Amino acid sequence: MKTRYDAEVVIFGNGESIKDGSVVVENSQIVYAGESEHAPTAKTVQECNTIMPGLWECHGHFIGLEKLDFNQEFFTHPFHQAMRVVEDARVALYSGVTTVREVGGYGVYLKRVIQEGTVPGPRVYSSGGMLSITGGHGDLHSLPIGVWNYLSLHSDHWMFNTVDGVAECLKGVRKQLRQGAEVIKFHASGGVLSELDDPINQQFSTEEVKAIVEEATRANVAVAAHCHGAPGIKNALEAGVKTIEHGTYLDDELAELMIEKDAILVPTRFIIEESLKMRDMLPEYARIKMDQSAGRHWEALKLAIRKGVTIAMGTDIAGSRKSPLNRWGDNAKELEYYVKAGMDPMSAIVTATGNGPKTLGPRAPRSGMLKEGYDADLLLLRKNPLEDITILQDSANFQAVIKSGSPVWFKS
Ligand SMILES: [Zn+2]
Repeated sequence: MKTRYDAEVVIFGNGESIKDGSVVVENSQIVYAGESEHAPTAKTVQECNTIMPGLWECHGHFIGLEKLDFNQEFFTHPFHQAMRVVEDARVALYSGVTTVREVGGYGVYLKRVIQEGTVPGPRVYSSGGMLSITGGHGDLHSLPIGVWNYLSLHSDHWMFNTVDGVAECLKGVRKQLRQGAEVIKFHASGGVLSELDDPINQQFSTEEVKAIVEEATRANVAVAAHCHGAPGIKNALEAGVKTIEHGTYLDDELAELMIEKDAILVPTRFIIEESLKMRDMLPEYARIKMDQSAGRHWEALKLAIRKGVTIAMGTDIAGSRKSPLNRWGDNAKELEYYVKAGMDPMSAIVTATGNGPKTLGPRAPRSGMLKEGYDADLLLLRKNPLEDITILQDSANFQAVIKSGSPVWFKS
């Protein structure tokens, strides 16, 4: 059965929009998107102000934590975390996020319960665990190494996987693929929330990064690199990494290299702004590193926009419902920062729609655009986000969220 949605404004997700347009959906796919004049008729016709594709969150973590402190991961039972994550997924979908590229967390398992129809949630493409060097960003430096190694090696659910040397890097990639990873995530530099490492320093040698990328490529999977410092960004790009996450120390030369390599920046400004708001709750080491890098990150974002680097929306969102900030469902705040940093609202929408699937490289699904043959994931809106990007932050401005052609919720 066909359903037709008529809108005053149709935003396609590829940078184009029209007035008085229609989207026609049959089963789970879009069969028409264009001018209402030429649209096929349908038994059911719904009207709205604006229609656009559902949002893609390209850097999230379904980890069920309430604090921005990696140690919580160790002191919260995995079942407890996993059950929180189910609600986070529902909230994300209800707020308009119809797809999540998850770069470390329970996503590979969450995907299964969503796909089988047990619980509501977005489409999930997950990396499984994140690969890190011993002592790197994905290591809990305060734990005895024996405890850490045990967890890293023996737990399927563990979001961290420390690997050293080419052989372990290959094993790490294969382990994530084995549990259903559809993108590979590794830490190419130090981080802010880890205790002892420096965000500016490169992590993993050139040989190790090459091994990770080559192994992922053999499985047709793209690689995402957490990267703050310039050496790590450069090393990752030269090895063929598809997406640079954070990109704090991006400069002119690196921005040009990103364009040359057709790489995508996933800025995650949201997590920085949220962390600054809850500065006092961060561990002291993280607070110091946050203060040192927040301003630099803002400059890097502005530079990337100015230079025309391809950007995909990602927040680094990780907090469960009881978290004071950084909560699933607030994903669209990220777009406000892009506009403040110099992006026009249409381009901001493209980062969260048409550019989303590109972050999965060869596994990119036909999604993120209103186009014949694409997944029917749609937002029906009461207002036009091209006039005010912040309307996407409040579902009171939505008339419906539609996933796979079926309304998740609908308010007439
Ligand atoms: Zn992250």
